[in-house]
Amino acid sequence: MARTSLKDRLTAPLVTRRLPSNAGRRVLLTFDDGPTPGVTEGVLSRLADHGARAAFFVIGRRIAGREALLRETASQGHAVCNHSMTHCDIRLPSPVTYHRDVRLAHDVITRTIGVPPPFFRAPAGRLHPASLVSPGLLGMRHVLWSLDSLDWHCRDDDAGRETARRVLDSVDDGDIILLHDYHTYIHALLDDLLPGLRDRGFILDGGLSQLGFAEDTSS
Ligand SMILES: [Zn+2]
Repeated sequence: MARTSLKDRLTAPLVTRRLPSNAGRRVLLTFDDGPTPGVTEGVLSRLADHGARAAFFVIGRRIAGREALLRETASQGHAVCNHSMTHCDIRLPSPVTYHRDVRLAHDVITRTIGVPPPFFRAPAGRLHPASLVSPGLLGMRHVLWSLDSLDWHCRDDDAGRETARRVLDSVDDGDIILLHDYHTYIHALLDDLLPGLRDRGFILDGGLSQLGFAEDTSS
């Protein structure tokens, strides 16, 4: 599991990596790189089964033809968030190009669900001047993560369940957990992770209120 590095500490005032301390025994599940038909629906149904709310960091260019799925995500009370238009994770992008990419995603999300995305996450978590400045210009909080599940390594359901076990072994109050909804193994992972979190006493509303995301903006 990836944890705090020196770079994390240097950028701490500019990005959010954990829920605020008043979130208590909450964690935020975050799902990157969707929406993905055939995967995201199963994530939504599992979250609903556990009364859980999450943040979905969607890629703008993946929304076309999947608008209903994005609206369904928002209507279930989840935060639909900006992960750029093209997953522009080049290491040294032109700031203007980067900002345009982020703004395009901001606009398509806003048009699709009727409210602007509250949070941004830099593709691949790469921090540089453009990725630090752009979200604020568009009124978004930059949210990264404190616990990387490494779920993208999964190649079968057993690996998904093993990933859930590793997360449950290390999860702590206020963690923001990085997951992805572009692979089907996320379903097996959640089938173990969600009840496991509940058994450990975690509140599964995602701490979205503590992060400043008002519930009524998504309905
Ligand atoms: Zn991503």
